[in-house]
Amino acid sequence: MRYNKITDEIVAGLKNIVGPSNVVLDPEKLGVYAGDEVPEAEWKHLPEVVVKPENAEQVAEVIKLANREMIPVTPRGAGTGLAAGAVPMLGGIVLSLEKMNRILEIDKENLFMVVEPGVTTGEVQQRAQEEGYFYAGDPCSADSSFIGGNVATNAGGNKAVKYGTTSRHIYGMEVVTPTGEITTLGGKCVKSSTGYDLVHLLVGSEGTLGIVTKVYLKLLPRPLHNAVLLVPFADMQTAIDIVPKIMTNGGIIPTSIEFMDNLCIKSAEGYLNRTLPYGDAGAYIIIEVEAYTESQLEADFETIGNICLENGGLEVFVGDNKSSQEKIWKARRYLAEALRVTSPVYCMEDIVVPVSNIPRVLAEISQIAEKYSVKIPCFGHAGDGNIHACLLKGNMDDAAWYAVKEKVLDEMYTVTHTHGGKLSGEHGIGAKRKKFMARFTDPVQLKMIKAIKKALDPNLILNPDKVIDVD
Ligand SMILES: Cc1cc2nc3c(=O)[nH]c(=O)nc-3n(C[C@H](O)[C@H](O)[C@H](O)COP(=O)(O)OP(=O)(O)OC[C@H]3O[C@@H](n4cnc5c(N)ncnc54)[C@H](O)[C@@H]3O)c2cc1C
Repeated sequence: MRYNKITDEIVAGLKNIVGPSNVVLDPEKLGVYAGDEVPEAEWKHLPEVVVKPENAEQVAEVIKLANREMIPVTPRGAGTGLAAGAVPMLGGIVLSLEKMNRILEIDKENLFMVVEPGVTTGEVQQRAQEEGYFYAGDPCSADSSFIGGNVATNAGGNKAVKYGTTSRHIYGMEVVTPTGEITTLGGKCVKSSTGYDLVHLLVGSEGTLGIVTKVYLKLLPRPLHNAVLLVPFADMQTAIDIVPKIMTNGGIIPTSIEFMDNLCIKSAEGYLNRTLPYGDAGAYIIIEVEAYTESQLEADFETIGNICLENGGLEVFVGDNKSSQEKIWKARRYLAEALRVTSPVYCMEDIVVPVSNIPRVLAEISQIAEKYSVKIPCFGHAGDGNIHACLLKGNMDDAAWYAVKEKVLDEMYTVTHTHGGKLSGEHGIGAKRKKFMARFTDPVQLKMIKAIKKALDPNLILNPDKVIDVD
């Protein structure tokens, strides 16, 4: 075994660094840090101790101690992850960033916001809005996820089709390296060709290459008007075909283009306890557009509406005020909760494929579901090819569930790979997909990833057992 156990001396050392009140040993309280939002028991593991540093210097000291004592350290944000990335699979220390939760600066001259990693995404959005700006990162978990977690997973979300994923909103970060040094990568410069792009090496590294202790976020001018369109289609192929037509024929890049299949529409109806329009439709497409003037907004949503109607849309419902927009978005935003009501245990996948391949991949997933007599509702971000395929456990017993899940995941990832896709579009690999990462990644790239990890973290103490096995 590479790692040592936490001893009384190590606990004393940790208390000395972060203060006794920021060290958690009570088994009941440790339970909160044993898992993230992946519901299955196999992806839960108790930490031996949780520490809550209040600044980068304390983080660095904890990391140095962990290197000296050979203790694994798992960084943790809000624990909303869907890849078991923040789960201490090998025990050791969970390093929770919850106390580093200050907005440090709003730089109106350079359009930046500088924040600590424990600020929630929603708070960043809200503060930007209050100051008259706009932060474009918008995962569906924005109310609870932390900005540090968004950076570490390269979170996507509803606005990624127009604004890109978190990597596009990050221009710099302060990090504590896996050996306990503090450095600032990038900063407030909008561009840089000065050596390797270490900022974007860290984005999406899932806490395996460094701990993010400060983030430089890009602010944008705030679009003043928006509208949301709900368009039911008879089948998924016709629905997805609309995406390139809007972008090329319409010349408009919507903020969001989301899809839901019929199983999701039915789950949303059950959860919201109301009938949705065209509840038997094969697919829903939800489109959001933004503009700086009202006339531009109207022109854009009329163009999009007409393209939909001319290409198989059964009807176009327009949400042009807050309450009608919320009504439309609710059906999509609460799908994770809705599916949990249908089946408390499920396996949510996050595959991403070229947009035009979505219908083909969904058809093959539906064949897999039929072959194993399981339900796999699918929804996601049609505008960027990101499919959340959600295998439901239903009332299967545990043995049957694990057996069928292995086979379904294996076949689903094979289909994804065959159609030019990747295992995860935004949730990450974590512990949950590590096995498949090794199988479906080019060996040359695996070698590069392992070399980077070994070079930066020679003792392999930072978030071990995630993304890839180095040894
Ligand atoms: C209902 C629901 C909806 C969701 N919708 C979306 C969505 O639309 N788009 C999307 O992308 N995701 C979505 N997610 C997944 C999740 O919210 C994101 O992955 C989010 O970015 C995780 O942030 P967190 O603070 O909860 O991180 P955690 O779950 O605590 O950690 C995630 C990973 O980041 C690492 N980490 C956390 N903080 C740091 C840090 N400061 N430094 C280094 N590493 C760190 C952890 O070690 C772990 O590997 C959703 C989840 C739920 C439950």
